[in-house]
Amino acid sequence: MRTDYCGQLGPADVGRAVAVCGWVARRREHGEHLAFVDLRDHTGVVQCVVDGAHDLRSEYVVRVTGLVRSRPEGTENANLATGAIEIGDCHVEVLNPAEPPPFPLDERGEVDEVLRLRHRYLDLRTDRMQRNLRIRARVNSALRQAMERQGFVEIETPMLIASTPEGARDFVVPSRLSPGSFYALPQSPQLFKQLCMVGGVDRYYQIARCLRDEDLRADRQFEFMQLDAEASFVSQEEVLEFISEAVSEAVEAVTGTRPAPFPRISWHEAMERFGSDKPDVRFGMELVELTEVFAGTAFNAFRADCVKGIRVEGGASRTRKQLDELTEQAKRWGAKGLVWMKVEDDRSLTSPVAKFLSEAELQALVERFDPSPGDLLLLVADERAAVQRVLGLLRLELGRPPVDEGGLNFLWVVDFPLFEGLDEHGRPIPAHHPFTMPHPDDLALLDEDDPARLLAVRSQAYDLVLNGWELGSGSVRIHRADVQRTVFSLLGIDDAEATRRFGFLLDAFRFGAPPHAGFAFGIDRLVALLAGEENIREVIAFPKTQSGVDPLTGAPSAIDPAQLEELGLRLLPRKVT
Ligand code: ASP
Repeated sequence: MRTDYCGQLGPADVGRAVAVCGWVARRREHGEHLAFVDLRDHTGVVQCVVDGAHDLRSEYVVRVTGLVRSRPEGTENANLATGAIEIGDCHVEVLNPAEPPPFPLDERGEVDEVLRLRHRYLDLRTDRMQRNLRIRARVNSALRQAMERQGFVEIETPMLIASTPEGARDFVVPSRLSPGSFYALPQSPQLFKQLCMVGGVDRYYQIARCLRDEDLRADRQFEFMQLDAEASFVSQEEVLEFISEAVSEAVEAVTGTRPAPFPRISWHEAMERFGSDKPDVRFGMELVELTEVFAGTAFNAFRADCVKGIRVEGGASRTRKQLDELTEQAKRWGAKGLVWMKVEDDRSLTSPVAKFLSEAELQALVERFDPSPGDLLLLVADERAAVQRVLGLLRLELGRPPVDEGGLNFLWVVDFPLFEGLDEHGRPIPAHHPFTMPHPDDLALLDEDDPARLLAVRSQAYDLVLNGWELGSGSVRIHRADVQRTVFSLLGIDDAEATRRFGFLLDAFRFGAPPHAGFAFGIDRLVALLAGEENIREVIAFPKTQSGVDPLTGAPSAIDPAQLEELGLRLLPRKVT
């Protein structure tokens, strides 16, 4: 039907007879018998000069044959890839008429998201979506190639499984053959990939669909894709290399440039310097340690476990009202208060609390922050974790560049703690899933009843972070049933429960499980950042809205009473909330 794609024609084609197919993007009439028609396909648009009367409307599907010619001097369009040429002597064949689209497809204006998603097939015709989907395909292809080159074998794991231990809520599927029983949809292929290692697969990977019933956000959908990998007889170091290689290859496939080697930072250092375990290192504004400065202070609010602060360049121009709002915000994040100080021309500090501080303390602040006139200092005092969290959030709020600025800043965060805190029963909460191997040097601390020591146990877990987004995580796994039982018991999972939930894995471990380690990262997030999009919905062909609905197909929807009957299910009356 066609000889060329619209967007690929150029001066080299002048004089050629061509046939192009696509959708009518725009039409400008010149009198009754001449029309300029922009024809669009996924490569772009080309201008077709159509003589004679035609009933062509937006989004009609047409085939145009004609002769490529240079545009008359002065009518070239430098903003358009095909702007130097046009197709003349056109013959237009309407392959299918179309109703007017419910929103314009050729301008990047604000269109209601539900409307876009209800007509996603139209939205997909836009430049933006065509570009994003193709970036995604390039990423998938590069990841596959990189993993395969490194000896990884693609294995598909099942979708209908027993519950997985990623800690989110499962989506469940009722079983017709065993009424009253349910499958869970995989939150990840975690247990299967570990079983593959016991099965001698050596290096497994999969571009895996994972499902987690959690509230949706800009960077989270119910279903998402991960590059999931696992390897036997490897160290943490090797896993970081495998994944760095695959990610670098994907970045290069999209941007044409291979990223610099990914730096590493320990979890502890990330928390101290950035107040976050997924630091956005596109900008500075690091947390400055001040606890020592106030060790003997007379100012009560600063007599705390930890005092830290950040310096906001040029921030002193904020009004009193804005500073009050910032303080309120910090309190909503859990701070007891927020102390602000403005840096004057002579680098002296003005602050409502300055009168409570000694000359030496004020002097020490200037030394630690080394501020410039016009800067603003923000200080928080509290327990260390609270200080880190609040300042980490303030730092992002006040300093984070827009999504498409500052380049791609990958970062490995290593040496996570094994437990992230204690639950209401005083039991440790795992920071990763319960199959994560503790750091070999910290194994002795595991026997302790002392929670403070338990919380100091490091794990062999690592995260990959990009511009402040957690791309993914992984760990060296526990491959010995005895260590696994110890960790389960620390988590309050007794033998009976361990056997019920993960018995098959523990059984498998009795038959010669090799040491193994793995990783998984979210492809949607990587693609979104490569495409310069704030929301992963923009890089998913058919996503759900924030409330988990698909306006196109109407999912989720009621099912037939006969289906319920077959599944042995009866619905409770809906709770009125
Ligand atoms: N299964 C983990 C996750 O989905 C990743 C891993 O530990 O390999 O987060």
